[in-house]
Amino acid sequence: MVEITDVVCSLCGCVCDDIVLEVENNEVVKVKRGACSVGKSKLLGHERIKSPMIRENGELKECSYDEAIKKAAEILYKSRRPLLYGWSSTVCEADSAGIELAEDIGGVVDNTATVCHGPSVLAIQDVGIPSCTLGEVKNRADLIIYWGANPAQAHANHMKRYSYVSKGYWTAEGKKGKKLVVVDVRKTMTSKMADVFIQVEQGKDYQVFSALRAILRGHEDVVPDKVGGVSKEQLLEVANMVKEAKFGITFFGMGVTHTGARHNNIVNAIQFTRAGHLYGKWSIMPMRGHFNVTGFNQVCTWQTGFPFSVDLSRGYAWYNPGETSSTDLLYREDCDSALIIASDPGAHFPGAALRHLAKIPVIQIDPFANPTTEFADVVIPAAISGIECEGGVYRMDNIPIRLRKILETDYYVPDAEIVERIHAEVRALREKEGE
Ligand code: SF4
Repeated sequence: MVEITDVVCSLCGCVCDDIVLEVENNEVVKVKRGACSVGKSKLLGHERIKSPMIRENGELKECSYDEAIKKAAEILYKSRRPLLYGWSSTVCEADSAGIELAEDIGGVVDNTATVCHGPSVLAIQDVGIPSCTLGEVKNRADLIIYWGANPAQAHANHMKRYSYVSKGYWTAEGKKGKKLVVVDVRKTMTSKMADVFIQVEQGKDYQVFSALRAILRGHEDVVPDKVGGVSKEQLLEVANMVKEAKFGITFFGMGVTHTGARHNNIVNAIQFTRAGHLYGKWSIMPMRGHFNVTGFNQVCTWQTGFPFSVDLSRGYAWYNPGETSSTDLLYREDCDSALIIASDPGAHFPGAALRHLAKIPVIQIDPFANPTTEFADVVIPAAISGIECEGGVYRMDNIPIRLRKILETDYYVPDAEIVERIHAEVRALREKEGE
């Protein structure tokens, strides 16, 4: 039995990097410290795709890696406008290889931000973002706001490691010296811990941010008695907490990005943060979901100039979310094949998008079966990033962290290698046809 320390969890955007494991006979037998229950479950392992498969007469039949990779290359080579989607639960090296492949075959490359924090990215492009690292939050923040986010269930270590419950250099008393405000449309596990819980009406976040901004800027007389279901009294209470805080942070989730004014909600949230600067240090940060959703946005920006939803079919990068985003492309039936990697649109895309996805050839690359497997035509199992292979990822605060390899595999192939091998096959097909 070997004890391995400083293991990094490859599940959510917290990217916890102080996990201690026990490994015996190339198997994780115990997660001793550091991981939450979902992180622990991933590290201990569960049912995975056992072999590459190709669908024949409606049924997935097992095959070799070479056969599956050749078939995937044929599908992409024959396509006029393939969609290459996912990329958030794999490492930056795979993302980079995928963007290169998309450029070469004239595809549209997009990641899961398109259905989660895409509006946050658009807002940041509009007005910038006053943000910080999670380390700064841990060491300095005395007022924490979670808005439209439920970390107690979705990012289980977030409060313990980085925010309300953590103890840092200037926050040695932990939660005793801090205040927690939760804003949501319903009571959650996180709201139960809050000093102040604000129950906002569905889709009215924009108005509540505006009211708080007005109060912070000295215009409380223009704020009516109730805004978005929240009483003026409560708004004044929160504004006073903001005024008294030395270092405040707003963490926001998809409860804000996908309601009402969408990316304008985030623009307003950022302007609320700036109003906080009249009184103290204020920051804001999106609660990114997948462990490397942030990393894809980084890599895509390095390589194409844009963070997601990039159409490379014109021979240059064209970025126009709403037109070039995956769901819109699928609604319009504007792509003729799809490579889905490290994600599950089968479970998360709207029905109209899925209807087209079910009609076109789909290649899936993933360690685990999920609803997308049900309609995939080629399934290629991957080594598990952060367990069977290493690689670079970006935590939700844009801090790069290296995933470690903790188990050996002599069968499963890392995502980056699968994508590179598909690309090599596409080049070989092109050479064969004398293009
Ligand atoms: S909080 Fe997220 S990164 Fe940390 S152990 Fe849990 S699932 Fe893994």
